[in-house]
Amino acid sequence: MHEKDIFCKIVDGEIPCYKLYEDDDVLAFLDISQVTKGHALVISKRHYENFLSTPKEIMHKVMDVAQRIGQVDIKLLGAEGVNILSNCYPAAGQSVMHFHVHVIPRYKEGEGFEITMKNNAEGLNLPAIAGQIKENL
Ligand code: AMP
Repeated sequence: MHEKDIFCKIVDGEIPCYKLYEDDDVLAFLDISQVTKGHALVISKRHYENFLSTPKEIMHKVMDVAQRIGQVDIKLLGAEGVNILSNCYPAAGQSVMHFHVHVIPRYKEGEGFEITMKNNAEGLNLPAIAGQIKENL
């Protein structure tokens, strides 16, 4: 048994949350940091380390709820866009080692949250990289 992380404690009702959705496998609640208004987390109730190590059936259920929350953000919360984000491992910014998907409503460009996608393709051997990934899927 692993030591309970903060999301396991939320699932078990030991820590409160602003709950948005719950079923047997999935829980959704507001992220305490509210990067933007309505910022939500969708998690698996069972403990898995992250997106990459979660069984597909559970991952699909979590993504289904993330999609539904994103749709509500656009329809009813006034968001003009939504970012769906799942950080995997600390190198990618994962701080809670329990599978979760961020649903981040976007109201104005740059408001509270920014992803900068730089073009770093120069010098990379794209055919070799594509081949390595493709051959191992
Ligand atoms: P990540 O950095 O992708 O692992 O995201 C973890 C997220 O969990 C952060 O955005 C935190 O604000 C959020 N968080 C941590 N503790 C709580 C809590 N008790 N209730 C709600 N959200 C939390």
